[in-house]
Amino acid sequence: MSPPVPAVRPTADSPVNLRSLGRVRVLEALAEARRLSSRLSRPDLMRRTGLARATVGSVIADLIRAGIVTDEDANRADGLRTGRPARTLSLNRHAAYALGVDIGRDHVRVVLCDLFGEPVWDRDLHRLVDNDADDVLTETAELIGQAQRATGVPAERILGVGVGIACPIDRQGTLLAEGIMPGWVGVRPTDELRERTGFAVRLVNDANAAVLAEHRHGVAQRCDDVIYIRLSTGIGAGVISDGRLLLGAGGLAGELGHVTVESSGAICRCGNRGCLETVASPAAIAEAPVDGQRRARVDHPADRPGARRRPRRDPCDGGRR
Ligand SMILES: [Zn+2]
Repeated sequence: MSPPVPAVRPTADSPVNLRSLGRVRVLEALAEARRLSSRLSRPDLMRRTGLARATVGSVIADLIRAGIVTDEDANRADGLRTGRPARTLSLNRHAAYALGVDIGRDHVRVVLCDLFGEPVWDRDLHRLVDNDADDVLTETAELIGQAQRATGVPAERILGVGVGIACPIDRQGTLLAEGIMPGWVGVRPTDELRERTGFAVRLVNDANAAVLAEHRHGVAQRCDDVIYIRLSTGIGAGVISDGRLLLGAGGLAGELGHVTVESSGAICRCGNRGCLETVASPAAIAEAPVDGQRRARVDHPADRPGARRRPRRDPCDGGRR
């Protein structure tokens, strides 16, 4: 019987790939230790990563040279040290930074975060954005420049810009702005901001950005199946399914706001009639009559007479623990 085919066939560049893999494992172990407020030594890293002593030593030397990892004396107070002094390793929070931009209907916010995701600069600009793409993108770039000048973080330490925008985006990254953000039709914010700032730019729908953030850093860290419903000026949702962001065939899996819920309802800003946004967005609720009469009724199966309601359950019951 022939031996099983190895998962990774040796090639001429295997040493490079294995080195990169080792670097990723070491960085992941150090990031996990930081989350748990613990510190790791080289032997700890060998145990956590399964890498050989020589590999860990080589990877750590590279990361220290690059300024990504710091090597410190553990400074044990027990005075019972034997052999060489214990050293612990940790990530340098100032090694790299990233910019976050939130473009909503009535604001632009720019945040500069360090490697640990902690904001070091945060500014909110209140302005209506729907009709002024060019001005909004210029003002965003100006805010980014302000962040750099105020903090002194050099451009080469900024990994890039992540932009969340309150607009549907298809799988190709194109804004579907018709009727939603009229001044943004045909605009490519990724290209425009890259030209204005020189940074790499990633664009994502704001509800998708929110569910990714909650899954990675927030209340949904232990859940593999999550729906985040964003009630802002409009209504949107971000969906994580089996641990991955669900975009759907057209990239619009979470676009709840323009689903028709009342065929004879009010005209929506998108041009259709009776969208969910016309009855359930914060603006629609705020504008609803206060005489006890609901302006519109959502015809949902669960609201019909005799409908059976499911008991409430922990949203993470079915997720990975
Ligand atoms: Zn609509």
